[in-house]
Amino acid sequence: MSKRIIPNMNMMKRCLYCYKLKDESEFSKEHVIPQSIGGTFNKPDNPFVLHNVCERCNNVLGIYVDAPFTKSTLINMYRHQVAYEWVNPEKNKSIPLAYMGYNQQISYKDYICENYLGPTGDTIYHFHKQYPEEEVMTGVVGIPPTAKRKNPDKGFAFLFITSNNPIWLPTIILSFLDAFKDSIHYLGNGPTPQINKGNFTDIPKELNELHDELLKIQNTHHEQRLSLDILGEQRFMAKLGLSMGAALLNNNFIDSEDADLLRNFMREKDPEERKKIPIKGNGILGGKWDLMEKILSWKYGHTILLKEINGVLVFFIQYYGSLNTLIQISTDRSHWEGKIKKDGTIYVLIPEKQSFVGPLGFTQFLEHTQKITPIKELHNIEEEIQNYIHPPFKI
Ligand SMILES: [Zn+2]
Repeated sequence: MSKRIIPNMNMMKRCLYCYKLKDESEFSKEHVIPQSIGGTFNKPDNPFVLHNVCERCNNVLGIYVDAPFTKSTLINMYRHQVAYEWVNPEKNKSIPLAYMGYNQQISYKDYICENYLGPTGDTIYHFHKQYPEEEVMTGVVGIPPTAKRKNPDKGFAFLFITSNNPIWLPTIILSFLDAFKDSIHYLGNGPTPQINKGNFTDIPKELNELHDELLKIQNTHHEQRLSLDILGEQRFMAKLGLSMGAALLNNNFIDSEDADLLRNFMREKDPEERKKIPIKGNGILGGKWDLMEKILSWKYGHTILLKEINGVLVFFIQYYGSLNTLIQISTDRSHWEGKIKKDGTIYVLIPEKQSFVGPLGFTQFLEHTQKITPIKELHNIEEEIQNYIHPPFKI
């Protein structure tokens, strides 16, 4: 008689996202806030990590739901800006480059040229062959997340450094190398750098003509095409609402109809079908929450608010002190009773510190921003940034 393996039901658990029962071994750690926008926190009491998401959902939703949002041109702009505010060139850390769009002026064979700015306003040209047509997502920076498995062309990149202050050099070079990990790297204005030896290549003869052309135009205005679409914003918001609910509310939320709505919305690929799912919310570009925007604004990180409004638990997030989205999480008070403060619960997430402050009460946070009663942790960070002066780009 052959042995049959009977799954041990004790080891089975339900995935938050696909709602399937799976073996314990099929689960992996899920960061509620994606790591690329600062969701890794070095804090022992971190509620923003889930252990009930299966590895498959973690991967698939990472590509189709997280990436279109986190790699969007709008998020890229703020990531660059906030990282710059925090950067101390003496710490040799890279920062995300600012994406400027497709360059319409320069052509080289059948390559596409995209422009970026480095930490000190450095001009960067990335040449690559067209990514697989069916994978291209407008409004997404870099290689389309879905094209990775098709081994798209990594191309080559030219860096033209603007700063002549050597203190900035490591930050510029590291940021450039990090942005184009598998591309060929050329320094456009200077000899091949000896720091990070091996990462830079001498410019080959066949690129001399292109190099000369770039040298001529690198300080001039570029004709660029930049798309500011955010494709994944709605599905991402539903995913965040669901995972935030799982992280912060009572356990009965996960199996509720409210969670189901978010789950269906998050999983639905067709925008027309999504419209039929009765969830209230507002996207980044469609929000009419002027007052809430002002109240929650904390420009060095993301602010999260969970608040009951007319019997509905609403989840509001402001990214980088600027971009607002909002979605309903629950209509059943038993989900948030005892978990969410009466006046609303706030967390302030500080990506650059891999840290967060909270849970704070809504009023408590308000008193901080109105400078009535400062919250020490936030106050210290504000002081630290405001008092720090970047070394000059030009000396
Ligand atoms: Zn799953």
